[in-house]
Formats: sequence, structure tokens, C-alpha cells
Amino acid sequence: MSTFLWESIAFGPIHSRRLGHSLGINLLPIDVKICSFNCLYCECGWTLEKSLTAREYYPVEEVLQAIEYKLIRCRDNNVPVDSITFSGNGEPTLHPHFDKIIDRLIPLRDQYYPNAVISCLSNATQLTRPEVRAALQRIENPLLKLDAGTQEMLDTINAPIVPVDIEEIVEHLESFNGNLIIQSMFLSGEKEGVPFDNSEDPNFSQWLQRVVDIRPRKVMVYSLDRETPALQLHKFDKEKLEVIAEKVRAKGITTETY
Ligand code: SF4
Repeated sequence: MSTFLWESIAFGPIHSRRLGHSLGINLLPIDVKICSFNCLYCECGWTLEKSLTAREYYPVEEVLQAIEYKLIRCRDNNVPVDSITFSGNGEPTLHPHFDKIIDRLIPLRDQYYPNAVISCLSNATQLTRPEVRAALQRIENPLLKLDAGTQEMLDTINAPIVPVDIEEIVEHLESFNGNLIIQSMFLSGEKEGVPFDNSEDPNFSQWLQRVVDIRPRKVMVYSLDRETPALQLHKFDKEKLEVIAEKVRAKGITTETY
């Protein structure tokens, strides 16, 4: 299996199906993925490190300098930037100063690319930290993961490194009052010899009810795109994703498939 890790703090812009010209921000080391989940499908590979000591993360100054340098270069070369996007080698909100980085990024965005949105692809596990919740509520595009409706499915697909309570995650997602995007991966496969399919009940109907309760401004439904660490996974085709999306649209929620 080949894993994919970004090699700098600021990268791109890359063309993203979901975000247009997306200037990526990676707050995590370039040689190892750091995450609170160990998703079967993660394009960065298996999680070998769940966290670092505070001193091992990039200092805030270094992050902001790298971003500003990249923004200046893009502006001077007339490179379009639609979104400044936190993604990278794992879960960006694990950075202990994520909130401070957001606070200082907003004026930089206003200065260099006032029409760009700030996006963050997050697995939502750090919403238990009030400062992370508040920071994600200050940006235009919090894209928060919800792949499962049941605790059992979350444990299967996302395999949290430390126990995570789906009820608690959903409660925090509801606190966004709809100003968020839910991103949901749909797939089937086998884990330790046990088959699973998160488009089937009871998982699916519980996922749908949770989405209705969260009332996001949009749901992004997608399936596998790159090589995955787990081998026995099956991608859903566009037609199957559209069947899922129609069920969400029927609840009055904008839904796109990728
Ligand atoms: S949450 Fe994202 S980074 Fe973490 S394991 Fe899952 S796919 Fe990978």
C-alpha cells in the first residue's frame, strides 16, 4: 500500500472537486500521520501516532509565516485561491494552538484573498474542546466527518484511537446551528472477517436521523478515491451515492455527491 503525506505546511493550490482552487494547510509533521481516528480508508495510511507533545507541533509563528509566504507568492503570480483549506497529514485540530492559528489566519486571508473561504476538513473528535469548537465556528467552511449512524459502525470504519462517543459528537455538531457541512464516506467491505456496509440499516437510518437533527447547510456524500490501508473495501459508484443523496434531499437538506 502506498501512503500519501504532504511535504510542507502550505501546499498547492490544488484543484479540489469540492473546494475549487484549494490552498492546503498541513499543521502536522511531514513524515508521519497524526490522527485520533484510524479510518480503514485513510489515504494517509494507518495511524501510527495518535498525538505529539505540544512542543513537537509546528510553532504558530512558523505556520503563519509559511502561509503568508505562500499567499504572497500566489497573489504575485495571479494564482486563483478559492479556499484556504486545513487538511494535511491527519487531524488538523489536534494542533494545540489551532484556535490561535485561525484567529491570525483570518486577517491574512482578508489582506491577500478577501474572497477566499477558510475551510477545515476535520473528523469532529476535538469538538469536545471548547476552543476548537469556537474556532471552527469562526470560519466559513467547517467540513465535519460523520460516516456512521451507530456507535458500532463508527468503531468499525473510523476506529478511534481513544474511545469516542457518537452521541457526544452529534451533540456538538448540533451546536453549530446548521452552519457546517457534513462529509460522509460511504463504502462496504470486511473488517476482521466481518462484512459491513454503512448504506444499510440499522446504520443508515440512524445516520440519516442524525443528519436531520444536525441540519447542516450541506451534506457531501462520497466514496473511495485513492488507495486505502485496508484491502477489503469496496467503492460505491455514482449511481449508488445518488440514491443515498436523494434520501437526504428528501429531508430538505442540500446534498452533493463526489
Ligand atoms: S479522520 Fe481523516 S486523517 Fe484521520 S484517519 Fe480518518 S481519514 Fe485519515
